This record gives sequence, C-alpha cells and structure tokens, in this order.
Amino acid sequence: MAYFDGIKVMLEEKEYPTHWYNIQADMKTLPPPPISPATGKPAQPEELARIFPAALLAQEMSRERWIAIPDPIREMYRRWRPSPLYRARRLEAELNTPAEIWYKYEGVSPGGSHKLNTAIVQAYYNQQAGIKNLVTETGAGQWGTALAIAAAFFGMRCTVYMVKISYQQKPYRRLLMESYGASVFASPTDRTQAGRQILAQHPDSTGSLGIAISEAVEEAMERDDTNYALGSVLNHVLLHQTVIGLEAKQQLAAVDRYPDVVLASCGGGSNFGGIAFPFVQDLLSGQARPKVMAIEPEACPTLTQGTFAYDFGDTVGMTPIIQMYTLGHDFVPASIHAGGLRYHGDSPLVSRLYHDRIIDARAYRQSQVFEAALTFAKSEGILPAPESAHAIRGAIDEAIAARESGERRVILFNLSGHGHFDLTAYDDYLNGRVVDVPFSSEWTAESLRALPQVES
Ligand SMILES: *Cc1c(COP(=O)(O)O)cnc(C)c1O
Repeated sequence: MAYFDGIKVMLEEKEYPTHWYNIQADMKTLPPPPISPATGKPAQPEELARIFPAALLAQEMSRERWIAIPDPIREMYRRWRPSPLYRARRLEAELNTPAEIWYKYEGVSPGGSHKLNTAIVQAYYNQQAGIKNLVTETGAGQWGTALAIAAAFFGMRCTVYMVKISYQQKPYRRLLMESYGASVFASPTDRTQAGRQILAQHPDSTGSLGIAISEAVEEAMERDDTNYALGSVLNHVLLHQTVIGLEAKQQLAAVDRYPDVVLASCGGGSNFGGIAFPFVQDLLSGQARPKVMAIEPEACPTLTQGTFAYDFGDTVGMTPIIQMYTLGHDFVPASIHAGGLRYHGDSPLVSRLYHDRIIDARAYRQSQVFEAALTFAKSEGILPAPESAHAIRGAIDEAIAARESGERRVILFNLSGHGHFDLTAYDDYLNGRVVDVPFSSEWTAESLRALPQVES
C-alpha cells in the first residue's frame, strides 16, 4: 500500500504506472494531422521518419488509450520515480487557507526537472532504431541537460543548439550539458544554413527557441545516423509525461483525495499535459469536474493572447505546420527569466482542449511569479525554477480565493523543477531588476501576419 507520513505520499512498487495515458483516445475533436511545409498537404510518414524513429511516430498518431512503458524505461524511471507528492502544510499555514495544497516534485530527477521523463524514452527508441547522434535545441537549458543525460545513458552522442542569450547568461547550464558529454553551440550558429540565414539578416541576433529548432532539425535531416528530439509540444512527449499525473492520481487516492483544481506552468505544454491529462480524462468522461488550468507568463501568453491557427513549429519554416495557439513563429518574447516558457506556440493537444474550453489558462507577470516563488521557498524549503513558480502563483491565488470564500478545496500543482541554475534570475528579482512589461497586441501584429496559409 501507498503510505503517507503526514508530509509526502509514496507508492509501493506494485502501484507504479505500467502504461502511459494517451488522451487522443478520449478527445472528441483531435488536432488535424501536421502539414508538410514542402507540399502544403498532410505530412507523409516518410518525411517525418527522416528525423524521428518509427516507434515515436506511432505513438504520435496512436489512438490507443494505454501505451505500455517498456521495461528498460520502467527500470530507469526508478532512479527518481515515483516522484514524491507533498502536502504543502507550511505554505497552507502561511496563507491561512482552509484549502489543501498538494504538489508533485519533479526536481528530484538527476536533471532537476520533469524533462528526463521523456528524454530517456526518446533516447531509448532512437537507440533501438540504430541512431548514433541526437540533436536538439535548448532555451533555458533544462531540456538540453535532460537529453544529454539520456544520450549518456544509452551511449549516444548529443548535440545541442542553445539559444545564444542563454548560452551567454547561463554558463553553468552549458557546462552541465558538456559534463554529460554533449556538444553545445550558441544558436544562431554558422554551422547550418538556417543559422547563416538569420545571421545574415540579424548579425547581432541573440537567438530564440524557434531559430535553434530550425538549426537542430536541419542537422537531423542531413544525416542518416542523426535524429531530432523535441522536449515538449508533440503528442508523444506529452504522452510520456503522463507518468506524473498517473502517479499523482494514485498518491492522492491513497489519502482519499481528488483535486478540485489542477495547475501547471505551460511553455510547450508537456509538464501541464503530464500532470493534467489523467484528470482531464475524468472531465472528458464526465466522472469528475476538476478545474484544470495552464499558467503562462504575460510576456509570452500563447494561450491567453495567441491565435488558434496553423503555424510552423520553428522560425525559419522547416518543421511541419501544426494547428495550435500561436503568437506567430517569428515572435520573439521580451527577455523574461522563465526561459522554458518562451515558446511561440503550444502543444496541439493542449491547444485543442483550451479551444474547446475543457481546460482553462491564466497569465501572470514576472514580479507576481517571483514573489510567489520566494513565499514558497521560505515555507516549503525548495527554491523553484522560475517556470515552475508560475504554477505556484496560480496555486497560491486559488488558496487565497478559498480563504475568502471559506471553501475547503484540494489544489494540486506540478513543481516541474528546482531553480538551482536560475540564481541569476533570483539575483535580478531581489535587486529590483525584474521589470514587468504588460502584454501589448502590437508585439504580435507583425508575427501574426506571417502565419502560413493552409487550406483546411
Ligand atoms: C521546460 C520547463 C517547463 C515548461 O515546459 P513545457 O514545455 O510546458 O513542459 C516548466 N518547468 C520547467 C522546470 C522546465 O524545465
């Protein structure tokens, strides 16, 4: 049986998830298939097979509800899974709320965030397919770190295009990836055509996730022994992350709880989908009615201010065109500290659920987020990643609302990672250098004009 020591809930081995949950089995409206940028028609499996292994493509399109977690992956998950589910008793006391606040802590993974949950799976299927080198992009560095660890586990090489501004501002993240054996380049580089094209137009470009994706995809297209790995957005990535929500559901059930509110920060949607989808399943089947909310930064408010449209996943326009909420593929957000939440688009699955009003979203300014982060750190002892702190802000506001209405609600959020590599951001906040810039639709006026035309 699972056990609860008053602070955290842990599961017994026989309760560990054996399958991931595929929400595509239960959604009434599914996202349309990706469109090839070359033909303007649905992308052919052969096009995608140049950069992804067949097993991951099969998962990407699968409608099967439960997909078995391969044994070697279950074994690796044990290094840090099940992750603990904490009751935030000290935070509850600090807020003087009748609400219960529970959080799943993904910072216990060797990479310090939830991203290793999918990185090892992607490395595994690629290794099985005979791939020798994985190439990817990274913004803040968490995804690059996770893939570097996963590649090391499976004896593969790993190449990371790191957004130039992060490369310059976060030398320790780069060194961490290099310590695991990865090669890291500041994007835009002159190694790829995409990078050279950007540099010709903007020699001083500090890069963006969209540009780094273009570079990584180009390298993967050109080499047979090399595949591309994406840390979020795609269906198979969200699938792998559902291990978080499946564990959380079991852990809460062990203490006879079910959440009234489920929250997670949302960049590309993998950490949100990971914790939320097993609960959205209950919403879709009518079994329960939790409020499920994605939290994003006001500086990059993809769901709350973006447009539901077809767009490229990258800046240069090399990736398939997908239907999602987007701020436009050449949107470059103001430099906020939550680097992992700066993507212009969002997962098609999360986008569809939001469009159909099954889930909710909210945006916060940076100062609100850092204030919540420090309240949390002082009461619970964990310094959160700035990305994760968005969910904390949402949870605190829900707990305050419960205090005002005298309601006893159960709040669950995902603490996606720790902030030990984000101390520069805390330095800025503590010294008054975090400036809030309220969203203006002028920011996206131009980028939204550049959306690709797709006949649907
Ligand atoms: C990457 C990241 C996120 C956001 O990513 P998603 O694509 O939305 O999953 C949130 N928290 C941490 C700690 C991250 O590393």
